[in-house]
Amino acid sequence: MTQRIFKAEGLVLRTRILGEADRLVTLITWEEGKFEAVARGARKTKSKLAAGVDLFTHGWFTFHRGRTWPIITGQDTIERFPRFRDTPDLYAYGLYLAELTDRLVSGEEKCVEICQLLLEGWKLLDGDVDRTLLCRGFELKLTASAGYSPHLHSCVNCGAESTAGFSPSQGGLLCSRCQRADLIKVKPGTLALARRLIEAPLSQIKMLRATDWQKKELSSIIMAFFAYQLDLGEIKSRRFLKD
Ligand SMILES: [Zn+2]
Repeated sequence: MTQRIFKAEGLVLRTRILGEADRLVTLITWEEGKFEAVARGARKTKSKLAAGVDLFTHGWFTFHRGRTWPIITGQDTIERFPRFRDTPDLYAYGLYLAELTDRLVSGEEKCVEICQLLLEGWKLLDGDVDRTLLCRGFELKLTASAGYSPHLHSCVNCGAESTAGFSPSQGGLLCSRCQRADLIKVKPGTLALARRLIEAPLSQIKMLRATDWQKKELSSIIMAFFAYQLDLGEIKSRRFLKD
């Protein structure tokens, strides 16, 4: 980001009140990464910008480089996901995907893969999909794209193929010889599902079937991985999800 005026395709992850009439918008953009920008006057009812900087907006944004934050000077909406605003359940899931992305992505580097993943996640949520499974798939793919994937193919310590469970402190599977006190037992079907979720495009989630037990097991491994390896603390919007 060196030019004074620049344009970027992006997704709105978060907006906050700034002063009397402005909004501070957190965006993740395909080419410029994640950053905050000011939408001047966006809290006034007559503002042209107001709807264009709402949470979940996918669009093209024009910025002028300000002293502290870039200032949004123009905006073209591609998609707004209006159903998210009308359906509290959907809103909670959409917000969760946004918050998790915000927490896992830090800098102003290109985020092509992550932007596409989040957009795909919102699009799938907007249709007919197993929302719980979608969240698990999104969590695994996002951690992989951000470079923090859990090790789910063999024992993370010795490489043995036969494994006894998942160790949050080791960030992966351990065999019976290497196992530690924090080992969480995982059924082979759940592991196969986790690997499939990481490798397949998110859109294939519609073709996957998972039992409630597998979804529960997967959730406990991922949450333990987030807590131990990524130090994410509480992800506030997760409290509003059904499961
Ligand atoms: Zn081992």
